[in-house]
Amino acid sequence: MTDFNRRQLLGAGLAASATLTLPGFAAAQVNRNAPARVVVVGGGFGGATAARYLKLFDPSLEVTLIDRDALYTTCPFSNYVLAGVRSLDSIQHRRDPLQQRWGVKLVRASATAIDTGAKRVRLADGAVLPYDKLVVAPGIELNYGGVPGYSEKGAERVPHAWKAGAQTALLRRQLEAMPDGGTVIIAPPANPFRCPPGPYERVSMIAWYLKTKKPKSKILIFDAKDAFSKQGLFQAAWESEYPGMITWVAGKDGGKVEEVDVANLSIKAGFGTEKANVLNLIPPQTAGKIAIDAGLAESNGWCAVDPKNFASRKAADVHVLGDASIAGAMPKSGSAANSQAKVVAAAIVASLRGQAAPPAVFHNTCYSLVSPDYGISVTGTYRPGETVAEVPNSGGVSPARADAAFRKQEAEHTLGWYAGIIADSFG
Ligand code: FAD
Repeated sequence: MTDFNRRQLLGAGLAASATLTLPGFAAAQVNRNAPARVVVVGGGFGGATAARYLKLFDPSLEVTLIDRDALYTTCPFSNYVLAGVRSLDSIQHRRDPLQQRWGVKLVRASATAIDTGAKRVRLADGAVLPYDKLVVAPGIELNYGGVPGYSEKGAERVPHAWKAGAQTALLRRQLEAMPDGGTVIIAPPANPFRCPPGPYERVSMIAWYLKTKKPKSKILIFDAKDAFSKQGLFQAAWESEYPGMITWVAGKDGGKVEEVDVANLSIKAGFGTEKANVLNLIPPQTAGKIAIDAGLAESNGWCAVDPKNFASRKAADVHVLGDASIAGAMPKSGSAANSQAKVVAAAIVASLRGQAAPPAVFHNTCYSLVSPDYGISVTGTYRPGETVAEVPNSGGVSPARADAAFRKQEAEHTLGWYAGIIADSFG
């Protein structure tokens, strides 16, 4: 008997009568006509899309989507909130259409444990949801301890803003309060982490805000890495749009933050000690806690999966997708999570019907704004092999040489991409 099982039974005083704590569970095992139950933990880009497509592919399924928050605040476009280009509420979305239009059962709760042996999920209020198939899409956990001196409490003064919402609003307020001539330090982590181009889009959009409102200010990037996504495009754009404002210190040049002094807003790196007016520290990350607690993660903190259907390598009838998974060449992006979710939904439906799943193809597009009128992108198509591998020449980045009209057009495509993925995931 697992700990979860034992606690559940002892807590309810029902050790001799397990089925009473799990209504419908035993009966469904023998009733092959009952609808199959798919539970999805985490209603972000990955989980919400999986729930929607499961119902789309097979309306007879009983699909339950668990998320702790009533509203989903997207990280995509949160950097534009920092720049004052968009409001926070413009990036907050309800999941209700999933229930009203598609028949997904929405449960607002924290999932506190998964028993992959007994195939059930426990919620914070003690309720237990049995499943036939489980999708785990909890996103990331921030590893505060990965940077000495940092902590969850410290994030109230030194925001990470790597989960959008209150942290985004806090960083925006700090930027607004900063004097002209101030220094913003942004410290991105080593790979792998959520949204590889995200820190550099953030640098760009903060630079745009500073250029328009506080032009004597500077941005220092203390990076744990020696290279970053869309680097050539970003750096060329920084030179043309924000000359002299941005300095990037690579890991090999002492950029990796070794310690943070939260009270003094300063960081110690190989390069030296620097003090900021606004300090944005993005700590290392792992898969969401629930995935780790359920034993689905490897020792590196991420969840290994079968590349053709994102089935967990650790537990039967469980799929892990989105940021929490190890997805080969695919980045940890909302676009990737949305794409993986459709493959997973198709694989689950096929498996429940005893059929072969259709061959998997994945796609990713990541737009970044350098300014409101200057967009760049990276795109790729991926197929499963030993791992998820990019199809050669299937995508690429925006051209290095392009005129202002081209960059503006990509900025406009960013808006279309956002509207499309919101409708596809939550609609
Ligand atoms: P999430 O979106 O984090 O969803 C996880 C959900 O699970 C959350 O709603 C959470 O509340 C819930 N949850 C977790 N644990 C539990 C639990 N125990 N019980 C109940 N609920 C739980 N991607 C792009 O494609 N394009 C972009 O332009 C882009 N820009 C970005 C900009 C920034 C600044 C950042 C930080 C990220 C950006 N991303 C972008 C990346 C994108 O946000 C993530 O890759 C994406 O959100 C991953 O989706 P997910 O479903 O795996 O996780």
